Amino acid sequence: MMPPESAPSSVSPTKPQILMVELAEPLIDEIIRHQQHDEKLAQLATHSLQGNSGPYQLEEGALWYEDPQTKSKRLTVPLSSRKRVLFEFHDQIGHPGEDETIRSIASRFHWPGQSNSVREHVKLCHICACGKKAKTSPTDMRPHQPTEPWKTIAVDFMGPYPITARRKRFILVVTDLFSRWTEAFAMTASDTPKLIKLLEEEVFGRWGYPQSILSDNGPQFRSLAWKQACEKWQCRLYTTAIYSPRANPTERRNQEIKKGLRLHLMGEQHNQWDLKLPSVLYDLRCRKNAATGVTPAHLLLGKELSRPGDWKLQLRAPAITERHLRVAQAQLQQAKYQAKYASVAPNKFPIKPGDLVYAKTHPLSNAAERYHAGFEAKWEGPFAVTNQLSEDVFELDKHGSSTKTHRSVRKFGSNSDNGPVRSNSDNSRLGPNSSHSKLGSNSDHGSIGPNSDPVRL
Ligand SMILES: [Zn+2]
Repeated sequence: MMPPESAPSSVSPTKPQILMVELAEPLIDEIIRHQQHDEKLAQLATHSLQGNSGPYQLEEGALWYEDPQTKSKRLTVPLSSRKRVLFEFHDQIGHPGEDETIRSIASRFHWPGQSNSVREHVKLCHICACGKKAKTSPTDMRPHQPTEPWKTIAVDFMGPYPITARRKRFILVVTDLFSRWTEAFAMTASDTPKLIKLLEEEVFGRWGYPQSILSDNGPQFRSLAWKQACEKWQCRLYTTAIYSPRANPTERRNQEIKKGLRLHLMGEQHNQWDLKLPSVLYDLRCRKNAATGVTPAHLLLGKELSRPGDWKLQLRAPAITERHLRVAQAQLQQAKYQAKYASVAPNKFPIKPGDLVYAKTHPLSNAAERYHAGFEAKWEGPFAVTNQLSEDVFELDKHGSSTKTHRSVRKFGSNSDNGPVRSNSDNSRLGPNSSHSKLGSNSDHGSIGPNSDPVRL
């Protein structure tokens, strides 16, 4: 069956490797070099020299765009370098959602129609389509609102994962539930003494002792040693048992880390995961959070974390907002966010024969082959829908063979980030995966929510 017109064949899976060969020259240098070969930009540069170029200014051999409102200068990107900017600010940094990709590019670069280029790029990103989790209804989130950074933290173990060359098997995840700043440590074991030592040495020494700690009911958190340590720290203990699995804030973070690892490990040995952890954490800390309205880095430190090459841009460091103002703004944003979030109803989008869809995969882990299903892509495709058998059951053409599938499919080229709940809220909400795809449905057979993850450990 022919694909529908809305999904042109030229959008077949984009392979990031193709672009990798071009990455030898630093991005900013390439942009400035390409500016000189771009006819349109050369014209603007000439006008600038004559003193009548509007917002475009030639400075130190590069063409900048001055934002009329903020007066911040952004490097003008010629057509030939835009693909690479999109690649470096989306594909290379863990595939953030559409809004987040727009935000991080727009704060550094300028070109006309930028938002549309980004939307198009994310919409057609094969890895995003394969790697995204099925979305759940937001209605079951339970509010849990700390009011200060590092006042309430969540502590959780993930794993065991394929053992790495450095003997690591577990990840200890520590999250500040206000700013959503995440610390994660690859560990050889998940016992209580190691946990206590690590928190004291690597977390509390930097961020201070929290008032409350949220954990699950795992053996480490039931032990006498843990209770005694918390007494010494004068921390109140809560367990995530008071949450439904979907609203559990630690699940949310774990899913994000897993998603990050999955994307960074695509096509690589899964037992290298511990080497990817720092990049995953960097990405998460730089990503704007829909609930607080800012990035974890901004909320905690008052500044964004620089990327390689940022120092070559004329990024104007905004005046650091005083901490109490940052906290107050984030509190306000969280309250607004909660109100909006509560009012969103799940959505179901039609699928019809002829549509191209991604289907959910159900991989199983295999320790002997150092393969971990949780790091594998969540979706495969696109496949053509050949027949609709009932409201939720479809027949797909999978490489020539007809396969029956339930409604855990997502339309190709459809942006799953529609509706009032936007994609970048993916990394922000306390409830896991609460936004919903166009085709997301809660009636999916076990495909929704963290419990259904085949490797929920
Ligand atoms: Zn992507």
